[in-house]
Amino acid sequence: MIDLHSHTTESDGTYSPQELVAAANELKLDALAITDHDTFSGYEQARPYADAVGLRLLCGIEISTALGNPKTKTIHLLGYFLNGGPADGFRNWVLMMQAARRDRNERLAARLRTLGVDIQIEEVNAIGRSMAGRPHFARLLMQKGYCSSVQDAFVKYLDESAPGYVDRDEPGVEEAIQRVADGGGVSSLAHPIRLGKRSHAEEAELIGQIAAMGLSAIEVYHSDHTAADSARYLQLARKYGLLVTGGSDFHGGNKPSIRLGTGYKGNLNISKDLLDAMLTASAP
Ligand code: AMP
Ligand code: FE
Ligand code: FE
Ligand code: ZN
Repeated sequence: MIDLHSHTTESDGTYSPQELVAAANELKLDALAITDHDTFSGYEQARPYADAVGLRLLCGIEISTALGNPKTKTIHLLGYFLNGGPADGFRNWVLMMQAARRDRNERLAARLRTLGVDIQIEEVNAIGRSMAGRPHFARLLMQKGYCSSVQDAFVKYLDESAPGYVDRDEPGVEEAIQRVADGGGVSSLAHPIRLGKRSHAEEAELIGQIAAMGLSAIEVYHSDHTAADSARYLQLARKYGLLVTGGSDFHGGNKPSIRLGTGYKGNLNISKDLLDAMLTASAP
C-alpha cells in the first residue's frame, strides 16, 4: 500500500514531518509522498527521518491553480519529483506562490476585521507560521468563539461563497502543468470529484481539456471518491492516456475522519504498481 497525497504542519496538516514519517512507517506503507500546499519544507524535514527507518519518501507538492481567464474555478494540481527533486527554476516559482499566499492571508485577516472579527495576522502566523492557510484561520475563529467547527468557519467566513473570502493570485492551470514538467516532475489532477461538474459528460469534457494542456496523471483514488467515482476516473485515465495516482489527502486533526493510507472509512488501498508506472514514465 502507498499514499501519494499527505500534508504536514508545514502547510495545513497537524502532523509534523517527523510524526508523519512515524505514522507511515507504523502502517508499513511501501511509499509516502508529502504534498504540502506551496512548499517542499515538510518533505525536506522528513527526509532524514524517512532514511533512518527505511521509508520510501517521495517529493511532492500541491498547487492551487486558476481554471479559465478570468478564473471560473480553483483547481488543485499535484506535482511529483521522483528524479532528484525539482529544478531550481521550479523552486523559485514556488517562492512566488508563497509570497502570494502571505499577501492573501493579510488581506483575509483585514477582510475578517471588517466583518467584526477580532483577528490579527500575527495570531494566524503563530499557528500556521509563514504558510498559514484557511484551515488555520478556521481554527482561530473556532478558538475565539466565532464558529462551532472548522466546517462552520468555512461556511460562515472562508468558503469561496462566504462573505470573508478574498481571492489570491493563482497561476493558470496550464502554466502550472508546464512548470511541473519543466521542473522534471509528474503533474496530477488532484481530487477530480471537486471539479464539481453537474454531469459526468461535462466532467469528462473538462478533464479532457486539462489533459490536453500536457497533464501527466489524474488522482483516481482519493478519500472523497466512491468506488464508482474511482472507476469513472480510471476510464478517463485510459481514454486520455494519463497515469494514475492516489492518496488519502491526510491532514491529521484538520480532517479527522481521514486516515493515512486507508482514507475515509478504509476506502483506500493503493497499489505500489501505480508508483512503478510513474517511475517508468518519468525516467530520464
Ligand atoms: P488555502 O489554500 O489556504 O486557500 O486553503 C485551502 C485548504 O482549506 C484546502 O486545501 C483544504 O484543506 C481546506 N478547505 C477548503 N474548503 C474547506 C471546507 N469547506 N472545509 C474544511 N476544509 C476546507
Ligand atoms: Fe489542505
Ligand atoms: Fe487539495
Ligand atoms: Zn491535499
